[in-house]
Amino acid sequence: MSTPTIATSIGSPPDHERLLVWVEHIAELTAPEQIHWCDGSEEEHELLRERLVEAGTLVRRADAVRPNSYLARSDPADASSVEDRTFVCAARERDAGPMNNWRAPRRMRQTLSALFRGSMRGRTMYVVPFALGPSASDLCRVGVQLTDSAYVAGLLRTMTRMGRPALDALGEHGYFVPCVHSVGRPLLDGADDVPWPCDPENRCIAHFPNTRAVWSYGSGYAANALLSRRCVGLRIASVIARDEGWLAEHMLLLKLTSPEGTVKYVAGAFPSACGKTNLSMLIPTLPGWRVETIGDDIAWMKFGPDGRLRAINPEAGWFGIASEISYESNPNAMAAIERDAIFTNCALTDEGDVWWGGKTPEPPEHLIDWQGNDWSPDCGRPAAHPEAYFAAPAARCPSIAPEWEDPAGVPIDAILFGGRHSGVVPLVREAFDWSHGVFFGATMSSETGATRGGTPGELRFDPFGMRDSCGYHMADYFAHWLRIGQQTDPGKLPKIFHVNWFRKDPETGRFLWPGYGENVRVLAWIFRRCEGRASARETPIGLTPDPTRLDLSGLDLSPERAERVLEVDEAELRAELPVLGDHLARFCGRLPTELRDEFRSLERRLERA
Ligand code: GDP
Ligand code: MN
Repeated sequence: MSTPTIATSIGSPPDHERLLVWVEHIAELTAPEQIHWCDGSEEEHELLRERLVEAGTLVRRADAVRPNSYLARSDPADASSVEDRTFVCAARERDAGPMNNWRAPRRMRQTLSALFRGSMRGRTMYVVPFALGPSASDLCRVGVQLTDSAYVAGLLRTMTRMGRPALDALGEHGYFVPCVHSVGRPLLDGADDVPWPCDPENRCIAHFPNTRAVWSYGSGYAANALLSRRCVGLRIASVIARDEGWLAEHMLLLKLTSPEGTVKYVAGAFPSACGKTNLSMLIPTLPGWRVETIGDDIAWMKFGPDGRLRAINPEAGWFGIASEISYESNPNAMAAIERDAIFTNCALTDEGDVWWGGKTPEPPEHLIDWQGNDWSPDCGRPAAHPEAYFAAPAARCPSIAPEWEDPAGVPIDAILFGGRHSGVVPLVREAFDWSHGVFFGATMSSETGATRGGTPGELRFDPFGMRDSCGYHMADYFAHWLRIGQQTDPGKLPKIFHVNWFRKDPETGRFLWPGYGENVRVLAWIFRRCEGRASARETPIGLTPDPTRLDLSGLDLSPERAERVLEVDEAELRAELPVLGDHLARFCGRLPTELRDEFRSLERRLERA
């Protein structure tokens, strides 16, 4: 291969030897026409967007309806995440565990070399340094993504502390996670570009936990191309956290203030599409209670000098699936994207605004759909892609807590686990202790919906909501959680709870619990438990509120229904044990003894019951 000469370089390369050498090495492999060193400035952001508008990738929304916002339409063949082409390339297959796709590192390196050779020809390679977490935090970590997509560089600007803050955190010798991304469509001999370049046939996302590197090829779709999030923020971070003794989690973070003005902080892990964003932005229906948002998707947690677990939100923006928010269900999220937002694969209204199914109770008479075609309510096609998404700066959310960027993090009082369960699982229960709580996390599951793949109603185990996001063997990750519980005085550990907003009346098929803003009633009980002020009844699966202790004032919920949503049906729970046993058996001899013991104790408690 002949070494390409890099014609131009935009911006100034930082004073960081390892970074410079690596960038040169990747430029030799991918052969871009020029290199752009990103500084994260507003001018640079403007420039990126101008280029994208010129290329037809972004279309600016009417300022009157949605100021400073843009819509992108992807190639229809590149409109969703590719879990089956996402790999954890641990040295040995048994170290990736049963929940990851594995490839031998050597073989994957060969595949990647072939894919990336010359893949940026005719394009600009953006060098995008990004900080996860406030740069003054000792939990701040830096990644650098090399990408030939201005669209992805722009998303990184919205979702992370990109450019200057990252370089400052990096200094001259700081550590960074190397990420390489190419859309995989070189521009040969001055060929014309397309609005959404990609190579869908060959999409591939590879993680190397040993060298902590990420490579992504062939896609511009955020879930595959924005490597700060799932790839670094969770998969690689989980490996770093294991090695350094902290936690990188798929969790929301919220601040809860009681009517007396006392504050508690809550973290919560639910699988995707199970209500993290909604809970973190909840508008309480109980007078005097207040919920403020710190994060809606990722939490990094580490013990502080006071022995309490402290959490930061490593991101700097909101990213979500559009179809999961609406003015009715999540007004705070809707307000957060009112301006300065980037939308992808949404539909377009005649007024120049974006739209997706569910955004408003009734669809408009006419739209331009996500592929640019005319759309009417009776045309039989969805107007927006089901996985259409938005990204917007964090500060725009009206419920954001003032301390959301506190470098010291916030001290966590309670951790919630949850999922979608139409049957047996009660509204809320508290773990007896830390290892019982880890058992909650390890056995977390959710009934899959029709929207995100899978058979509707089928139970999918998703330990800690990390099934698709853990960079190493899931059973070792359980062991790591158990070890964390040994690192401080038990009295300083957060209390652990399991919640389920989705129990249904078997006769009507309707939700028993109103959910959303009413979930504050459950948060209030959790708050009082943390204060030691609320009673609970002991059941075989944990401590549940006495129905009289759950504040149901002003709620149109009959006492029988309240009893049903909290009910612990021992016969039904016993019937579920074999499925739970099968799930745990997948981890074979690697399952920590404590969790084996937890399962046996559960069996015994249910036998006795
Ligand atoms: P995330 O992917 O975990 O952040 O989940 P979201 O907060 O975006 O919510 C996913 C879906 O669950 C949305 O369609 C919500 O409307 C729905 N949802 C969220 N909270 C509740 C709730 O308390 N009750 C019910 N019934 N649905 C909810
Ligand atoms: Mn979310």
